[in-house]
This record gives sequence, structure tokens and C-alpha cells, in this order.
Amino acid sequence: MVEMKFICDRMLGKLAVWLRISGYDTLYVGDFETENEDEFLLKNHTDRILLTKDRTLFSKSKKVGRLVHLITSNDVADQMRELLDIGVKFQIVMDRCSVCNELLRKPSIEEALAVIREQNFGEDLLEKYELWYCEKCKKLYWMGSHWVNMVRFLKKLED
Ligand SMILES: [Zn+2]
Repeated sequence: MVEMKFICDRMLGKLAVWLRISGYDTLYVGDFETENEDEFLLKNHTDRILLTKDRTLFSKSKKVGRLVHLITSNDVADQMRELLDIGVKFQIVMDRCSVCNELLRKPSIEEALAVIREQNFGEDLLEKYELWYCEKCKKLYWMGSHWVNMVRFLKKLED
């Protein structure tokens, strides 16, 4: 099966972040500079499933044969539950940058230290955790307290 790829409308920024955390290649329309987001979403990245809360955009997309899925909930946990139905699996995979969608990789010691100094993180981060790195954002990821909170959130999702 080909892995699902997505593009999210303006109202689904949080959902886009969770899809990236779960390893799905996901674009967010807010990251593009475009005058008319609906037109943009109708005509671009049509190899991706458009996730939208906008019923008008949903029916327009259907009409032109664009891959689209309507999200009806306002709460991000409920939105995620809606996607479970189409086979999306939410899990923390440390594969993609949650900010920009780039693939993460292991940083070199120099890269890690540069970020640690820039952000005033303790240098023991290097010894304490396995680190991942986004080349584009110059951002480090590790399984710290934020990660624990995310795991808790995902646990609740299953209830
Ligand atoms: Zn990034």
C-alpha cells in the first residue's frame, strides 16, 4: 500500500502537526504564500488527500475529482479519531519535522552543539537523549517531557 499523503486547509494546522509527528508527509496551506487558498487547494498537490473542514471546498473538490476528506470535528483529538476510520495510524515516529515536514536525521555533534548553544539547552542533552535534527529549521528533537505528554495524549485517543 502506498503511504497516504495529505494537505491540510487553514483550519487544520494542529491536525497537520500530528500527522507529521506520526510520519505522514503532510503539507499545510498556511505555509504557502497564496492569494486564494481554496483555488490553490483545488489545483495543487492533487496527488495528496485534501483534509478540509470547509463543506463548500469539499463538494467543489469532489466535483473536480480531487482527493478529499471532510473533517467535521473542532477538537483535534476528535479530528484524529475521524482519520482513524480511513486507516491513519497516530504514533510518534520521529521521522518528520512537525514544523516544516522535512525528514529528520541524526545530527552531527557539531550541529547538535550549535543548536544546544543557540537555544541555551544544557549540553547534557547530548548524553541523555537520542537526538534527531531538522536541517531546514535547525531544530533538535528528543524524547523528553514533551514526548511523554504526547504519548499520554495518544493514549487518551484510544479510549
Ligand atoms: Zn523543520
